[in-house]
Amino acid sequence: MSAAMAKQIVLTARPQGRPTLENFRLEEVPMPALPRGGLLLRVLYLSLDPYMRGRMDDRKSYAPAVGVGEVMTAQSVCEVMASENPHYEAGDIVLAPTGWRTHAASDGTGLRKLDPERAPITTGLGVLGMPGFTAYSGLYVIGKPKAGETVVVAAASGPVGSLVGQLAKMAGARAVGIAAGADKCRHVKEELRFDAAIDHRAPNFPQQLAAACPKGIDVYFENVGGAVWQAVLPLLNRFARVPVCGLIAQYNAADAPGPNLLPATMREVLSKSLMLRGFINYEFAAEHFATFLQTVAAGIKSGEIRYREDITDGFENAPATFLGMLEGKNFGKTLIRVAVRP
Ligand code: NDP
Repeated sequence: MSAAMAKQIVLTARPQGRPTLENFRLEEVPMPALPRGGLLLRVLYLSLDPYMRGRMDDRKSYAPAVGVGEVMTAQSVCEVMASENPHYEAGDIVLAPTGWRTHAASDGTGLRKLDPERAPITTGLGVLGMPGFTAYSGLYVIGKPKAGETVVVAAASGPVGSLVGQLAKMAGARAVGIAAGADKCRHVKEELRFDAAIDHRAPNFPQQLAAACPKGIDVYFENVGGAVWQAVLPLLNRFARVPVCGLIAQYNAADAPGPNLLPATMREVLSKSLMLRGFINYEFAAEHFATFLQTVAAGIKSGEIRYREDITDGFENAPATFLGMLEGKNFGKTLIRVAVRP
């Protein structure tokens, strides 16, 4: 009988602009051994996130690039297959920084146990995980919405944007979501209960956005940049706050240079006393993660907070699913189901 094999996906070359399937390679490798004092993990769900596009480039950033030939970075929900670590036992479900792998050895670093009784385990990668915390911390720590104010967010059907709008509503603000296409806009308005949802692909998008924000914008949670920022800029009110969370419209910058918005941006920053503040979620984790988990888990339980996941079966589909997510083909938090729990 041949030995059991594991799979992994590596970066084959740095993309020039938009990445393609040729930037990834699926490899079969021997099953990792249980490290002394460590754990052996089987990946159940692999998380695909926009930040991974940045890791494919070799440029100075807040985190090191993935090397060519190295396994792509990712968080996963895993089942513990075997453990010599006293804090975990076989059968436990954990969040782990496995990378794009089907199986991983771990020394216990960066693991977080998930309680399947508390919430579906997939939520640890979405609404109750890194994207959810990004929404919570960016909105509450930087955006600070007040009752009656208008909060605008794009990528509004995704894990970050969907929670931003719902938390804004919980703070008594008016939530306006931006998404592509009728289905996503309907979901944002009817299911997530935003006050309005605007399609950024509509030819008169700037006019529609202005009509949905009759009192201007007090908090713009920046997820995309590009043409959406251009439409938002003239609508910002005096003292508006802009948590700069992501710029997905610019991640493949080589093929989307766009107009130079810097002079217009700086003029508005000055004349309206705007506050733009970039952030990476983990800078707020020590102070706010526990409260976030409590608040959002309670909101999910009561039905006040809703979330949507977009799950694709099969580890080998990770590259195509990732490329699709960068173009908005996902509808909810993008996950790959790698294995099913028996
Ligand atoms: P999503 O699951 O929402 O997926 C990305 C979405 O971006 C797509 O579905 C698409 O939605 C939208 N999009 C893609 N291209 C464009 C474009 N040119 N113009 C407008 N919208 C576009 O992603 P997440 O919720 O995981 O992440 C949202 C943002 O938050 C990203 O920019 C990400 O990098 C950032 N982020 C930042 C973190 C931080 O710590 N600062 C942590 C986590 C995420 P549609 O089809 O509606 O256009």
